[in-house]
Amino acid sequence: MSAVGIVSSCSCLHPGIWLLKPGMHKMSFFGLHTATKCAAKDCYEVLVLGGGTGGIAMSARMKRKVGAGNVAVVEPSKTHYYQPLWTLVGGGAKQLATSARSTESVMPKGVEWIKSRVTALDPDKNCVWLENDIKLSYKYLIIALGISLQYEKIKGLPEGFDHPKIGSNYSVHTVEKTWKAIQEFKEGNAIFTFPNTPVKCAGAPQKIMYLSEAYWRKTGKRSKANIMFNTSLGVIFGVKKYADALLEIIKERNITINYKYNLVEVRADKQEAVFENLDKPGVTEVHQYDMLHVTPPMGPPNVLINSPVSDGSGWVDVDKETLQHKKYPNVFGIGDCTNLPTSKTAAAVVRWIYLLPAGNRLQQGDPSRI
Ligand SMILES: Cc1cc2nc3c(=O)[nH]c(=O)nc-3n(C[C@H](O)[C@H](O)[C@H](O)COP(=O)(O)OP(=O)(O)OC[C@H]3O[C@@H](n4cnc5c(N)ncnc54)[C@H](O)[C@@H]3O)c2cc1C
Repeated sequence: MSAVGIVSSCSCLHPGIWLLKPGMHKMSFFGLHTATKCAAKDCYEVLVLGGGTGGIAMSARMKRKVGAGNVAVVEPSKTHYYQPLWTLVGGGAKQLATSARSTESVMPKGVEWIKSRVTALDPDKNCVWLENDIKLSYKYLIIALGISLQYEKIKGLPEGFDHPKIGSNYSVHTVEKTWKAIQEFKEGNAIFTFPNTPVKCAGAPQKIMYLSEAYWRKTGKRSKANIMFNTSLGVIFGVKKYADALLEIIKERNITINYKYNLVEVRADKQEAVFENLDKPGVTEVHQYDMLHVTPPMGPPNVLINSPVSDGSGWVDVDKETLQHKKYPNVFGIGDCTNLPTSKTAAAVVRWIYLLPAGNRLQQGDPSRI
């Protein structure tokens, strides 16, 4: 990690506008909010916040543009996880270890890894603050902080995960509990939830249900399972074409869907899940379970809430065609932490990185294909 300190000015800035693509706001050395100078490694041509799918991929692309030593990624975790694999870990088809790599091993060569957490952003001064009051300056900033899991918004969680019969594929701490709960299921209700917030990979809450159903069929327990999908939404999936196909599968596999059911409490010691009926606010229903898969509420990372780079809901406020920030031209956002009208998936991140000009598909009104 670099030795970093207070920076008042930075000369690492090139006058070029290499990052720009057609349609982006032009900026130049003089267009930035500060003309900073950096002697030590406390100022970067490109600073990336977050070393997940979007951050690592963008840092590799940017290093090719500005050269080794000019790009840094701020990421606190020592382990990088390929989260889409967790569906298969929860379903018993993969080991958790296969989804993990050391962050060091995925950091592109020539990109500096700053092992810290960003605590505040000051885009008017082209700098961010890290833990221990460390300040870093940048010429360009890419924000890729992902989406935050909020298990604590459900009464009884996360401590309820200490009990059996409950799991959640969304966290590294609980994904293996899903497979255990599937295996230990004997008879009764198997409940799969979908929260009342944006989520990453909106398909994952259903995928684990279909995997569970197939496992119980294979092991002769299917006739003893009453499988329920309790979703806060009023539809099975946001895109009608896929919703129609899914409804046929749901019917064929004899699964019950309860629409507008939002999980608000888990009494794990009694194997009870409490749902609020969103059509009748304040009215709750208690469901006994023999297995419960929780998809937690999610929201923007805390550091983005009330940040100058965020919209009113806390998502990074970017142009949907270019990923450029709407107010700060040298700031960009990618992935789950942005307010892009795409689904929050790795697939959307990859699409933006490799096919950015095709972002104009959005104008054709088909965000689901991004
Ligand atoms: C169970 C599951 C199944 C999924 N299945 C699929 C699938 O089939 N297909 C698909 O396309 N997508 C899938 N996804 C979604 C996909 O993993 C995410 O959409 C993708 O990882 C988003 O990339 P990102 O870079 O925006 O965020 P992330 O990859 O989550 O990275 C965010 C990074 O920011 C870091 N960070 C957070 N706060 C700070 C801070 N304050 N300072 C510094 N760093 C910070 C985090 O440590 C993390 O490394 C799935 C996800 C899950 C959980």
